[in-house]
Amino acid sequence: ARKFFVGGNFKMNGTIESIKGIVKNLNEAQLDPNVEVVIAPPALYLLLVRDQLRSGLEVAAQNVFDKPNGAFTGEISVSQLKDSGITWSILGHSERRTILGESDEVVASKTKYATEGGVGVIWCCGESLEEREAGKTIEVIEKQLAAVSAKIGDWSKVVIAYEPIWAIGTGKVASVEQAQEVHAAIRSWLKKNVSEKVADETRILYGGSVNGKNCKELAKEKDIDGFLVGGASLKPEFVDIINSNQ
Ligand code: 13P
Repeated sequence: ARKFFVGGNFKMNGTIESIKGIVKNLNEAQLDPNVEVVIAPPALYLLLVRDQLRSGLEVAAQNVFDKPNGAFTGEISVSQLKDSGITWSILGHSERRTILGESDEVVASKTKYATEGGVGVIWCCGESLEEREAGKTIEVIEKQLAAVSAKIGDWSKVVIAYEPIWAIGTGKVASVEQAQEVHAAIRSWLKKNVSEKVADETRILYGGSVNGKNCKELAKEKDIDGFLVGGASLKPEFVDIINSNQ
């Protein structure tokens, strides 16, 4: 069985004080032991979180660069993450694809670097509203999957997050049916194009306006293996989302 996985993507939010508060809240909460929990603060706070977060909970960077080390101003390498005890990364988030201009190929290359260097990847995909309305959702996601699949061999360090762009930060969560349909399509793509084992073992998370109220219904679906949470990961209700699979 796939272990339920809940990620908290803080994006460019928080202060030393507020992030210490979130960590304290998680450290003191009763969390379902059958859930893998990973939080992703802004890079400046990664070490603070790693130092203060209780063991068993993990930390992710929101980005990583696809070069070993060197003259790349502003970037962070996989080996630096490992050196700092940061075991996960979020790659291919739609905000990085659209605002920072990362192509499918750049995302795939970063995913290759991270996984080969031993850092887990929460690899994000998802369609825009325009693409959904044009009936192109599955096509868009299959194209994103094909780009990453062409570059990586080892899927054991990859968790897929399906995040429809129209649901991110909008309060407009995908319906249970919409999410399940895409998750099942991702799994069948993996089965056909990678292997049955990878299709069976890879966690597929849903992200986009997940909150303490809508998480339980979504968590029941057979192909929804957890969540990638933005806004609500900064709030106490993040604990309810972590515990939604009980
Ligand atoms: P929200 O939960 O704020 O909609 O953000 C989702 C997201 O982008 C997580 O990566």
